[in-house]
Amino acid sequence: MSKAMRYQQHLYNGTRDELVEAVHQQLRDKRFNHCLRVEQTAIQLAEENGVDLEKASIAGLVHDYAKERSDEAFIGMIKKHQMDPDLLNWGNAIWHGIVGAEFIHDELGIEDEDILNAVRFHTTGAVEMSPLAQIVYMADYIEPERDFDGVDEARRITHKDLRAGVAFQTKHTMLYLAEKNAPIYPATLLTFNRWVAQKQMKYNY
Ligand code: GDP
Ligand code: FE
Ligand code: FE
Repeated sequence: MSKAMRYQQHLYNGTRDELVEAVHQQLRDKRFNHCLRVEQTAIQLAEENGVDLEKASIAGLVHDYAKERSDEAFIGMIKKHQMDPDLLNWGNAIWHGIVGAEFIHDELGIEDEDILNAVRFHTTGAVEMSPLAQIVYMADYIEPERDFDGVDEARRITHKDLRAGVAFQTKHTMLYLAEKNAPIYPATLLTFNRWVAQKQMKYNY
């Protein structure tokens, strides 16, 4: 069942239909439809976890808002906002969340930091993730048309225990990246150490 809610908190200056239209204008149908599914999955996870449904709707809808921008547009934004110059060593996969949040802020007028952080962290995770950020991270991974080995286990774990879902995705993404010798973004490593690794880095002798 799909949910179209009435926005009441002025987190976005318009209706849900207007936000859907603004997202559709930026994305091909395939990715736009993924955003609608991530929204619905995020709303469901928000209901299960006592998280604000309107924030889940907005964050799910906009999480990939900037994904089809050119590299030049991202580089311009990194410079405009004086973001970490190391970002220039990466590409669209990393930029569309962390830098994409600035497009959402500047163009859609969304200022809520919890929503913006959920977008920033949706690809790599982060050491500190709010329940909303955990939900968007997981909704992106388990939305109904995701199809990869382990997705059903990911869905089952996530609906049982959101934080366990975060750990599952983080571990499997790390394994996937390592297996194809892909560079691992530092935030991804830090997410692994916080959410997956056993804590034995203290002077416990
Ligand atoms: P999507 O935007 O809905 O396709 O999903 P994501 O935003 O979660 O992921 C975008 C891409 O980034 C995926 O192909 C991930 O495997 C990739 N990705 C995630 N973390 C890292 C990382 O640390 N390094 C690299 N190189 N790619 C990553
Ligand atoms: Fe994404
Ligand atoms: Fe996505």
